[in-house]
Amino acid sequence: RAKSAGGNRFELADPEMDERTITRHGLTTALPAALDRSEFFIEYQPLVHLADGSVSGAEALVRWSHPQHGVLGPDRFIPLAEHTGLIVPLGRWVLEEAVRQTHEWQQRHPGAGPLRINVNLSPCQLHHSGLVADTVDTLERIGLEPGTLCLEVTESALIGADDDLLKPLRRLAEMGVDIALDDFGTGYSNLANLRRLPVTELKLDRSFTQGMQQYPADPVDTKIVEGIVALAHSLDLSVTVEGVETAAQADQLRRLGCDTAQGWYYARPGPWDHLHQLALVDATG
Ligand code: C2E
Ligand code: MG
Ligand code: MG
Ligand code: MG
Repeated sequence: RAKSAGGNRFELADPEMDERTITRHGLTTALPAALDRSEFFIEYQPLVHLADGSVSGAEALVRWSHPQHGVLGPDRFIPLAEHTGLIVPLGRWVLEEAVRQTHEWQQRHPGAGPLRINVNLSPCQLHHSGLVADTVDTLERIGLEPGTLCLEVTESALIGADDDLLKPLRRLAEMGVDIALDDFGTGYSNLANLRRLPVTELKLDRSFTQGMQQYPADPVDTKIVEGIVALAHSLDLSVTVEGVETAAQADQLRRLGCDTAQGWYYARPGPWDHLHQLALVDATG
């Protein structure tokens, strides 16, 4: 590296920061080729009905199998893809792949209950004019019912969203696609604003689940979750909880009236085959 060259004009105070900058830059420039070379893959994490533990669907979570750095989680590269605009083709790929695998599964197991597939949308995709057309095209081409798809948008992406930004989501919701508000409770959004959003579901952030670790649960978190569940249900929204890692958390969130859960207690994200086994165990009793 240039730093060892002594007479370097740009002495860097923090070599670790330098390292991170170089890595980030390298990952950013490698992204487009990675998409061409199919280095991305999806892991699926089951969503379960809290009432009986049966699998209701799965969330698609993208990973990058990088030739030098190994498997990278989305937190390492989604922000870079958002910055460069590659998130649009990458997001399209995730949707296509997730819808295709879900449809294939349905074809092979017509007797099994419906398996809903959740796909994350980044704010950039919301701003991209092709979102509705791409989504409709993918669903029609592959032959998946719109009601089988749920798009997850973070609460913070919709804070202060004007009607132009909400229009594509509204169109998709009218077609029957479910829209979930992801990481709910972290975005300081105006609760009254919920009425305006075309959402069908709230995904309560993991921070609330953490408050349910002990018996009795954290009293403040309990009150907040109770309040959110009551509000959500009165608006006809269902409530999913993220990051359930223990039986205690599952018990207490079930008692507070949450509908669906996701977390390591049930299953870690994994390949479709893994999800497939869990879903079939349910379907066949
Ligand atoms: P998210 O949508 O909130 O996804 C849930 C995250 O929580 C996932 O992290 C999942 O692996 C993790 N998780 C699940 N259960 C547990 C648990 O019991 N304990 C703990 N500690 N964590 C749990 P992951 O896979 O690293 O994804 C991080 C974020 O990256 C996601 O957060 C989502 O916002 C984003 N993301 C993932 N895939 C995509 C994608 O295809 N497109 C876009 N735009 N964003 C994506
Ligand atoms: Mg999500
Ligand atoms: Mg989430
Ligand atoms: Mg989250």
